[in-house]
Amino acid sequence: MKANPKPWLYGPNWQGIRCEARTRRGTLCQRPARLPVGRCKLHGGASTGPRTKDGLARLTEAKIKHSKFTKEKRAEARRFAEQGRQMRGELKELEAWFVDHGHLDKDWRNQFK
Ligand SMILES: [Zn+2]
Repeated sequence: MKANPKPWLYGPNWQGIRCEARTRRGTLCQRPARLPVGRCKLHGGASTGPRTKDGLARLTEAKIKHSKFTKEKRAEARRFAEQGRQMRGELKELEAWFVDHGHLDKDWRNQFK
């Protein structure tokens, strides 16, 4: 077997933190740990997602397709719907009042058929 001509930077004398995950051979992984969880890039596990507000904002931005259903738009739609319900309620009250006081027939809508 040909010897590796390049000395390994993370040889036995390397002082840094090692990964120490259990390998399939049963030994401990000796690669340098470089993730926040203390494992190497092969043994770090799944991504934990964005950590900062900036990162999360970037993710949100990437997920938006056409901005038709953002939180703001949906809140606005709810507000408009509530307004419409209120207006229709008031109109109904007015109609009832007009009918009660004889200004309108009970079936006044039929005039416009
Ligand atoms: Zn490892």
